[in-house]
Amino acid sequence: MPTRLTLRTGQHETGVLIGRGRFDQLDEQLEPLFTTPPTGIALVTDGNVGPLYADRAASRLAALAPVLATCTVDAGEHSKCAEELTRLCGRLARSGLDRDGLLVALGGGVVNDLAGFAAAIYKRGIDFVTLPTSLLAQVDASIGGKTGIDLAEGKNLVGAFHHPRAVLVDPDLLASLPEVEWKNGLGEVIKYGLLGDRDLFLQLEQCEPARLRADTTAVESLVTRCAAQKVDLCSRDANDRGVRQGLNLGHTFGHALEAAAGFSGLRHGEAVALGMIAEADLSHRLGRAGAGLSRRVSELCARLGLPTRAPALAPALAMDDVRAFLMTDKKRIGRALRFALPVELGRVEILDVTETEAVDSALAILFESS
Ligand code: NAD
Repeated sequence: MPTRLTLRTGQHETGVLIGRGRFDQLDEQLEPLFTTPPTGIALVTDGNVGPLYADRAASRLAALAPVLATCTVDAGEHSKCAEELTRLCGRLARSGLDRDGLLVALGGGVVNDLAGFAAAIYKRGIDFVTLPTSLLAQVDASIGGKTGIDLAEGKNLVGAFHHPRAVLVDPDLLASLPEVEWKNGLGEVIKYGLLGDRDLFLQLEQCEPARLRADTTAVESLVTRCAAQKVDLCSRDANDRGVRQGLNLGHTFGHALEAAAGFSGLRHGEAVALGMIAEADLSHRLGRAGAGLSRRVSELCARLGLPTRAPALAPALAMDDVRAFLMTDKKRIGRALRFALPVELGRVEILDVTETEAVDSALAILFESS
């Protein structure tokens, strides 16, 4: 069932269009958004997604405006960096894309964040549309207007809020996603269950993991459910000062794990899965959650093929390095680390935590042998 959600933030409105087959109606879907068509289009994709879908996208986009360039970045987190951003902006300039041009991001969360940030700063900001192709990007990264890059000092340290004109989500594009990336996306799907959709969490606990992916109706419904929760949270709190912070569930530990692993070996959704296990444990240590919550999250992660211990994917990862990156978390306020802690299935609390021993102990469970 095609769905249209609207994310409203101040003056801005983003249409989130979800439905199987939407990708091949790109031009029809996007045309009503523009009173005057863009002067030109630059398509940004990565080395895995481009060969599969860029020509199909370009042929449709050409009905809207001339496609001036297809810019392909290396696939992977390492492309979310200042050097790639500069290269990309240079390529946009050489293509002749002007201030009334449109940037179209076609790919996973990396392309979304990098190309979205380029759109935010190129010629002081141009329109963009995002076409998410990974599960993680369809349920999370493409929605909410957060764009940016990583620094060696930490994840997403430089960026901007820049909302796309539209997010067009076609779950059929997930058919080509490697299995490991499917599982990676499930890390964020579990987050939505734990954060605000208890029934989703229970459904995942009961599903047959091997069959879930092949059930295209179930996948469309899963994507729609998560996207709707993100649209709702971002609409109520565009600037990330209130309820939206719940989306950081699993991310305080998760980002530190990713950074300590040097942004390789550990995917974002895998790090979030580990982060949720540790944060549920921390929540228990601080007297907010029952003892069983962390175990239950851990069992669901294992069931869906996600890691429950950090060294399983990043053997060289050292706990001290993770701790050091935690201390540079951008949500840190003075001595306190800000966490979105799960207190029960479907409910989180935002807490500023100064109990370093509890934080250390929660982190340590990710390094225990299982
Ligand atoms: P990714 O973009 O690296 O994609 C994962 C891999 O899957 C890549 O190799 C990509 O080429 C490949 N791929 C994507 N779609 C494919 C398809 N349909 N068929 C075949 N291969 C495909 O990573 P990701 O997991 O999509 O996103 C992770 C990034 O998203 C991280 O940088 C994270 O910080 C960011 N993120 C951003 C937000 C936000 O609000 N902006 C939210 C969550 C995550």
